Amino acid sequence: MLTFKASGEIRAYFKSKSERIGLVPTMGALHYGHLSLVRKACAENDYVVVSVYINPTQFNHQIDFESYPSNPSSDMALLNPFSDKIIFYTPDHKDLYPGEIQSNSYDFGSITAHMEGLFRPSHFNGVATVIEALFRNIQPQKAYFGEKDFQQLQMIRNLSVKKQMAVSIVGCPTIREKDGLAMSSRNLLLSLEQRKAAPIIYATLQDLNKNYLKSDVSLMSRYFKEKVEKSCLKVEYFFVASIDDLIPTSKLELNKKYRFFVAVYAGKTRLVDTVELDRI
Ligand code: AMP
Repeated sequence: MLTFKASGEIRAYFKSKSERIGLVPTMGALHYGHLSLVRKACAENDYVVVSVYINPTQFNHQIDFESYPSNPSSDMALLNPFSDKIIFYTPDHKDLYPGEIQSNSYDFGSITAHMEGLFRPSHFNGVATVIEALFRNIQPQKAYFGEKDFQQLQMIRNLSVKKQMAVSIVGCPTIREKDGLAMSSRNLLLSLEQRKAAPIIYATLQDLNKNYLKSDVSLMSRYFKEKVEKSCLKVEYFFVASIDDLIPTSKLELNKKYRFFVAVYAGKTRLVDTVELDRI
């Protein structure tokens, strides 16, 4: 597996090549969710750049940034089966932030106005700054993102069009543990008790999807909170938002597609999930 710390070296490596390049941006502590993106990227490209960079500007709390898990040797071991195609890229700060380590300011309209954008102010500016830098530095034809972070995925689609970056954005389904918990690097931070409780998040969303409550969003919200908070978990938000503009709604309209968006605290660890609503 080729490993680089500077995007200049990656560009020099690709200089004489006309191969298809895919990009999978990550913050490391890789799991099978990340690997599903890598697998798809490897099937569709000649080379796949997997970046691992814990981006300071997308964290709202220093403690969250400092406690974010990191395990480069296990990351490389997981990627090993794809080593023929993979370029493992672990940039220094200065490779992505040539000047000060600070975010640019973007306007994505309603896409980033609610849910994560509301509860984590400046988070999306931080993500967009790093993704824009990665796209400019690596110049991939395709980049792969998880639907688990659906709002982020839609924001990046918007970024790519707005900045005319000629990168096609590929969304990939959420990979879950056997008990339904969405895979996440942050799951490593859960205590035994929290890990045992966490599957209730997806189970309750599934319940709501099957249940008659689905016609009334405030009832759904109450049901979610009641179920999830029976354990050691605490709901930060529950929204139903339309897939197109990501504006939360209290009333479901016919022929429109919606998703549940939830954020739940397990102690200091924040878990997010999103599931599309099955319509009757
Ligand atoms: P992260 O390292 O958390 O920044 O995630 C890197 C990429 O992997 C993002 O595009 C995430 O949406 C995606 N991802 C994270 N967890 C999952 C999962 N369980 N299933 C699918 N994609 C995921």
